[in-house]
Amino acid sequence: MIGIFGGTFDPVHYGHIKPALSIKQALNLSQLRFIPNRFPPHRETPWLNVEQRLSLLKLALKGYADVVIDERELNRDGPSFMVDTLKSLIDDYPDEDLCLIIGLDAFMGITTWFQWRSLFDLCHLVVTTRPGFNESAISDQMSAEDYRYLSAKMVKHAAALRPRETGKILLKSVPQLDISSTQIRAKLLMNESVDAWMPVAVSEQLRARFKINE
Ligand code: ATP
Repeated sequence: MIGIFGGTFDPVHYGHIKPALSIKQALNLSQLRFIPNRFPPHRETPWLNVEQRLSLLKLALKGYADVVIDERELNRDGPSFMVDTLKSLIDDYPDEDLCLIIGLDAFMGITTWFQWRSLFDLCHLVVTTRPGFNESAISDQMSAEDYRYLSAKMVKHAAALRPRETGKILLKSVPQLDISSTQIRAKLLMNESVDAWMPVAVSEQLRARFKINE
């Protein structure tokens, strides 16, 4: 099974890398594909441009086995809808099973995604824990009907994400890192170091760009 990890990565940080790698290991995924989006549908225009976000992602992920940066959303015009991305992945890898990995914060907004119910015809979903977001709050974020729809798909064990099937949702604990790109952007704007939150190759690049002297 291939793990799909989408995001804006504006910039990439350990809160992206470590949870994704931990799911790769826990579910014995054959590959992890990081997919940076071009025009995120649910947020403002990214802070860093496409080339910057991509080059930092390349630095961050260099050297990991079976971890790939997939540029298909960057090469596609229009908003980066995950349902389109999954369909094109299925075209490219018809014999593979896909699981989409998203943080609990993103899952809480999933019913606002374009054609969100179709996602479950295309892949399984793995929802990772994230500091500041509580599973018990999921039902507050959506209609009772949508919550029932999602609850019926939830499974307790990875073994239930069966090959050649789709549409199951597994909530999985991952290393808890209280980091966000938003916090990192704020630190950089104040000329503060972000070394603790990302691989040194990434923070070096950011330091050079933002002329931080530490
Ligand atoms: P921003 O602060 O700009 O909104 P972000 O740090 O949330 O950005 P994104 O690129 O929007 O990062 O997130 C991509 C994916 O990574 C999402 O599924 C999100 O839930 C997940 N994610 C981001 N940070 C963490 C974290 N610290 N722990 C677990 N998952 C995370």
